[in-house]
Amino acid sequence: MKIAFCSSEVIPFAKTGGMADVCGTLPLALEQLGQQIIIILPFYRGIDSKKYGIKKINEHCSTTKIGKSVQVYFIDHPVYFERDGLYGDNKGDFSDNLERFQYFCWQALKILKQVDSKVDIVHCHDWQTALIPAYLTFPLKGDGFYQEMKTVFTVHNLAYQGIFPKTEFPKLKLDRKLFEREGFEFYDQINLLKGGIIYSDRVTTVSKQYAREIQTQKLGCSLDGVLRSRKDLVVGILNGIDYEVWDPQNDPWIEKNFSWEDIEGKYTNKNYLQEYFKFPNQKEAPLFGFVGRLSYQKGLDLVCEAIDEIGRMDLQLVFLGVGEKKYHKLIKDMASRYSQKIAVHLKYDERMAHMVYAGSDLFLMPSVYEPCGLSQMISLRYGTIPLVFKTGGLADTITSFDSADGQGNGFVFTKYDKESFVDAVKAAVKAYKDKKIFSKLVQRAFQFRFSWKDSAKQYIALYEQCLSNHN
Ligand code: ADP
Repeated sequence: MKIAFCSSEVIPFAKTGGMADVCGTLPLALEQLGQQIIIILPFYRGIDSKKYGIKKINEHCSTTKIGKSVQVYFIDHPVYFERDGLYGDNKGDFSDNLERFQYFCWQALKILKQVDSKVDIVHCHDWQTALIPAYLTFPLKGDGFYQEMKTVFTVHNLAYQGIFPKTEFPKLKLDRKLFEREGFEFYDQINLLKGGIIYSDRVTTVSKQYAREIQTQKLGCSLDGVLRSRKDLVVGILNGIDYEVWDPQNDPWIEKNFSWEDIEGKYTNKNYLQEYFKFPNQKEAPLFGFVGRLSYQKGLDLVCEAIDEIGRMDLQLVFLGVGEKKYHKLIKDMASRYSQKIAVHLKYDERMAHMVYAGSDLFLMPSVYEPCGLSQMISLRYGTIPLVFKTGGLADTITSFDSADGQGNGFVFTKYDKESFVDAVKAAVKAYKDKKIFSKLVQRAFQFRFSWKDSAKQYIALYEQCLSNHN
């Protein structure tokens, strides 16, 4: 099969979150399983042409290759994409995001024709690419080149929907009739994600549990009804991680490499973090790490609510993240109140992320909701034990450790309140203090694998189903 991935984020070129990991890694796994893949993304300012051997093919498009022969196309538009941020700057979202991503969607389809790449499947990701299914269903339907193409639309995070005032509808270059209940209309505004869900051939999301949750009123972000109406076409496929990038034995970013057989190096990384963050060098205190976007989703309000209880415990806690100003302030305040125990690094810092995964004993991930989550899988890879709320992909990957039967791979709280969270942190600290139990748990953690190969096989089955099934 020939598949085009269209996404606003793809590693190693542009990333703000997990979607970039998915769109840079899944194509390579699919290629290894014999599929022909191309990737299309915007040509943002930060992308280094020299480093990646990117060459211009025309005024609107440049290209390079990754993997064995995955062709990557960059949609070029100096006014729209030559900016520092992907979606906004420190003043907030860019005011022309609708125009920017409308242009991207239209141009992505045009490029396919220009380079004569008649793909079977166009795989779209989140609201930024949500116009593509509608373009293929309506304005391009009569064009023989596009007629047979099927669309798969992956929702990485239902909370981000691409909502714009209805007065902007003409900019979408779609018939006004599509601004309706069964189309892009959403409480009298434009909702791009909704259109993506409605006009694609299949909808996927990134874990089975999240696929169920988004069809409920509680986590459906007001689109649960739309998703329920297409429930037979909504599928959850768990993300994987790249086990070569995230590899404690060969990781070039960390202070000392280690493995499950030779774990001493892990503690060199822990000491490095303790020194870097000016913590007392205590071996007996567990070090908790947090790596993530600083947003409501990631559960920082709960940490803040519980900060005095946490501050009284014998532990250390490092936050690495960037995001909403409100959360920058919140965690800075926590760190200044408990400076011997809590430290922050408010940056997007790849190297430090590797260090936090490698050097922490436990990984804090109390997300309110979590479509899949990669950080808990990465942590396990480094023998770092996740502490999570039972939701979405966290529920599908982490189960409570039971010291009696040795089952489980982390600490899970099931009620989203301060008491349950604090109890889980206490249980983790207690387990850490019992060296025998904790080392058993760490050894177990190393054994878990969430490989892209398994997920890629599920995507292939879905693409095939899509092509054999005209609906
Ligand atoms: P989300 O997609 O909701 O942001 P995920 O857990 O799926 O969350 O993926 C987050 C990815 O981004 C992980 O690879 C994580 O290591 C990385 N990441 C998040 N914040 C930072 C940061 N400040 N510095 C470096 N990497 C980060």
